[in-house]
Amino acid sequence: MFQLLDGKATAIEIKNRIANEVRQYTQQGLRAPHLAAILVGDDGASQTYVANKEKSSHEVGFTSSVYRYAEGTSERQLLETIDFLNHDEEVDGFIVQLPLPGHIDEQHIINAINPKKDVDGFTPVNLGNMMLGEDCFVPATPKGICTLLRHYEIETEGRHCVVIGRSNIVGTPVANLLSRKGFDCTVTLCHSRTQHLSALTRQADILVVAMGKPEFVTADMVKEGAVVVDVGIHRVADASRKSGFRLLGDVKHDEVDERCSWVTPVPGGVGPLTIVSLLENTLQAYKRTMAL
Ligand code: NAD
Repeated sequence: MFQLLDGKATAIEIKNRIANEVRQYTQQGLRAPHLAAILVGDDGASQTYVANKEKSSHEVGFTSSVYRYAEGTSERQLLETIDFLNHDEEVDGFIVQLPLPGHIDEQHIINAINPKKDVDGFTPVNLGNMMLGEDCFVPATPKGICTLLRHYEIETEGRHCVVIGRSNIVGTPVANLLSRKGFDCTVTLCHSRTQHLSALTRQADILVVAMGKPEFVTADMVKEGAVVVDVGIHRVADASRKSGFRLLGDVKHDEVDERCSWVTPVPGGVGPLTIVSLLENTLQAYKRTMAL
């Protein structure tokens, strides 16, 4: 019988802890931590992500602000806003919601963010420091996955962890983190050119799936007793739901879950931990700014 790596419940616990800490600071007369976001265009998923980040910020007592721009906005306009936020002493951290429209060079935009305010952990300085195991902002989704594994005391030392997906924001950093001291996994990183994927995934004690393909991972790809972390989020039309859609992961849960020892549900697994990790990073930035 499998057990759930319950991201929703874990996130509530962590949010309560953050809210208590923030309350102590504001009761001492200090200002609240401030998280800002830059949102370009009207992509539905990006709007939802930013709205959730705003909502969670308010729940823990943070100030939050969103800088919204039309799809056709220029790279120069975004760089000006980033420069403003880099220098605004009342803003502890900010994010640029990705993806950006095709005419904007994403890496150019990310490179302009002051690493001290880069609470998404996407700048070369933060990613470089993460690789070195130095103090840094760890990208939110990989950090959330690590938090979830720790929270449920999943045994990782010497375990074979197979990660599917090598994106800069999920697969590559999580593979790095899980191979480091503290987690001590032996990591195999798979991607779209990997051969014999199923033969590799079947060896995984811990399988992290971040490939962006709905229900790709089926039962025959999973070893009995594996720990499965499903990062994927996909909206699929479902007329039987009030919302008109339901969420699927990269894992076919109706057949995979029963093979697992532990598994993240979708929704309510990695997603809530991603937002909480962003809040943790913002609190870390705030404490540094306020010398707490
Ligand atoms: P991405 O598209 O940037 O990367 C996908 C990766 O999967 C690539 O490295 C690619 O090589 C690999 N891949 C694709 N097809 C493959 C195949 N057939 N075999 C092996 N590897 C294959 O995606 P991403 O940004 O890393 O996101 C992955 C998924 O996670 C998406 O569904 C995304 O929506 C979701 N996501 C969720 C959260 C969260 O908070 N839960 C956060 C970020 C991303």
